[in-house]
Amino acid sequence: MQQDDFPKPGLSRPTLKRRVLHRAQQALYLSGLASLYAKLSRPNGALILMYHSVVDKEISVFIDPNNSVTVEQFSSQMQFLKQHCNVISLAKMLAHIQENKPLPERSVVITFDDGYRDNLTLAAPLLEKYQLPATLFLCTGYVERAETQWIDQLYTAFQLRTQHDLKTPFGDRQFNLLSKTEMQQAHRETVQQLLTAGLDKRTEILRQIKTQLQPKQETPRLTLNWDEVRQLKDNFPQFELGLHTRDHMDLAMLNQADIETEIKRCQLDYEQELSAKARFFSYPYGRNNEMIRAKVKAAGFDGAVITQPTALVKTTTDRFTLPRLETSASMLDLRLWTTGAFPALSKNIFGRAYE
Ligand SMILES: [Zn+2]
Repeated sequence: MQQDDFPKPGLSRPTLKRRVLHRAQQALYLSGLASLYAKLSRPNGALILMYHSVVDKEISVFIDPNNSVTVEQFSSQMQFLKQHCNVISLAKMLAHIQENKPLPERSVVITFDDGYRDNLTLAAPLLEKYQLPATLFLCTGYVERAETQWIDQLYTAFQLRTQHDLKTPFGDRQFNLLSKTEMQQAHRETVQQLLTAGLDKRTEILRQIKTQLQPKQETPRLTLNWDEVRQLKDNFPQFELGLHTRDHMDLAMLNQADIETEIKRCQLDYEQELSAKARFFSYPYGRNNEMIRAKVKAAGFDGAVITQPTALVKTTTDRFTLPRLETSASMLDLRLWTTGAFPALSKNIFGRAYE
């Protein structure tokens, strides 16, 4: 496996600052310093990993590489976690917090966001093989429509385009995508628009982009539908389900009433479809504030995850901002992060763990 580079370049590369920090963190592992630090400080606490899609070759062309690992990479990572770490469920981790019982060294929690079909077809059988628990956070609107996430619809439109001129919707910028720089810039700008758009505007932006770029193939259905969610629940009991709003909205951009609707509608959909309540919540894009956290709490959730690895989860961690680390395809990264030394060592040396 390639170990020395960002293996998932996607259409937009990570910032230079992030690349430099990442290399420096890897050097701490390769020099043995991270393991030594872990040995001396014996950190206890849990690392929560965030996955999205687990792809096979056939569908990889439709999924933004920033959101996926290959099935081979995932399999090796699960094997590694089984052998070297103490993988526990989110529920068990929460029980430790509530009972104020220290978490065992090298505790790891596995989570997935968004509800990709491959979580049922590819990830779940591997988790079963290694007997590892995991939590999947669903966007119920996307499940109801069995709609492919916007990030992948956009990725596919760019990757499989037959036309190369793009005028950004709701903006006046013209790009020629035959130039790599312009293509990356157009992608970045459109992502920014889509991040802040409501569902109707988001649908309209994607429609306009597809009309202009004329991709040679439509994205296949990449999102679980309710029948498949039920299959997952019935056949893979170690896969716990949580919620991730109804339509994957940046809650920090919404007014109070819309925030409540996003939280309550997804709970209602879930209860209607599965006759059960979900205990955990994942903020889309990790975005939250005090008011949003209060609403998630008031809605009856027991805990919620964010997307930054600010620290290992300890018994003192606020259970409505449980930090998570976005996984990469690299085994070196996984080894580095599961030493137990991170993110503390990175913060001590570089002043930060994440860009
Ligand atoms: Zn998401």
